[in-house]
Amino acid sequence: MDLFEYQARDLFEKHGVPVLAGAVATTAQEAEAAAEKIGGKVVIKAQVKVGGRGKAGGVKLAQNSNEAREIASKILGMDIKGHVVGKVMIAQAAPIEAEYYLAILLDRSNRTFLVMASVAGGMDIEQVAHETPEKLAKVPVNSNHGISQSEAVKIIQQAQFPADIAEQVAEVLVLIWNVFVSEDATLVEINPLVKTSDGRIIALDGKVTLDDNAGFRHPDHELLVDHSATNPLEALAKEKDLNYVKLNGEVGVIGNGAGLVMSTLDVVAYAGEKFGGVKPANFLDIGGGASAQVMADGLSIILGDPDVKSVFVNVFGGITACDAVANGIVQALEILGDKASKPIVVRLDGNNVLEGRRILNEANHPLIQQLDTMDGAAARAAELAAK
Ligand code: GDP
Ligand code: MN
Repeated sequence: MDLFEYQARDLFEKHGVPVLAGAVATTAQEAEAAAEKIGGKVVIKAQVKVGGRGKAGGVKLAQNSNEAREIASKILGMDIKGHVVGKVMIAQAAPIEAEYYLAILLDRSNRTFLVMASVAGGMDIEQVAHETPEKLAKVPVNSNHGISQSEAVKIIQQAQFPADIAEQVAEVLVLIWNVFVSEDATLVEINPLVKTSDGRIIALDGKVTLDDNAGFRHPDHELLVDHSATNPLEALAKEKDLNYVKLNGEVGVIGNGAGLVMSTLDVVAYAGEKFGGVKPANFLDIGGGASAQVMADGLSIILGDPDVKSVFVNVFGGITACDAVANGIVQALEILGDKASKPIVVRLDGNNVLEGRRILNEANHPLIQQLDTMDGAAARAAELAAK
């Protein structure tokens, strides 16, 4: 889960990372009140989970609370790269002397954690990495040892920070390592980390990604979820404990086992090329024990997606054999009744396949078509979706 900047700011504050006063507002009036409370100059910042807000006009300085209200009313509702601004952060303004970059992230390809530090902060770090890689220090972290103050100083020196602030920046690095570990993050990024004209080091903009797999250790992280951004079908699937991801195509996909469903998506997309570029509409893994109820829940979510034109049920019978799955499909269609209205292509294989196919043949449901191969079934589902 990616956090909004204001949520990252709050987490930083909780862990002692130096930040400036800040408050979130959803209306211009709230923005004015927040600016009044903070006092003096403030910066109004669009809260969207996308980079480059500054350049897009989503970060603006206000001289006083009156101006804060005017600016907030312009930024609220703005569209930044397809993200409509619903909240702004009102932050105390800082007299900036220099802008740096500091981050810790999970480096999957090297199976380690990585510190990235640069004196070329404030701008797009991908650009720095591309054009002036020598200005971006990348230092792996041994997760068993973590980052001590003396190690942090070495990293900061390696990144060529000015000597007079190395200790202070190193302290911030140790603090964000604490954030990274204790909140189970996969990314903690500060851009820019600034030096103010009075010599303070402050995290001015933060980006934090939390590891959802560690969510059970952090009941408080539930409060950080942006429910307004959750796809309603995905929310419904989550309620039913289904592994569902909405995609952009027209063929609904149900399978058992994440690997099988992933390859089904590929096969459908490939088959769809012959039918005007038809694509899978979703990922849905109903797992090993495909009971009638689970099948009904899965089918009802997929059939409730207006983009879906046909459904492909691709099941490889294992411990739950094909006959049980076939019975599940038949019962699911009984449960759904009139709600089931789109053609359903079923491909069964594996344990007890003949009995499974017999059950579906005997049920003779008008919506169901059976095919024996995955490629054949994908092509049929794509063809039906293209009609
Ligand atoms: P981003 O464009 O989404 O990364 O937004 P940032 O929060 O990083 O802000 C972009 C730029 O706005 C920063 O690099 C700063 O140059 C500037 N900025 C942000 N806050 C302040 C502030 O309090 N004072 C001043 N003078 N500039 C600021
Ligand atoms: Mn930034």
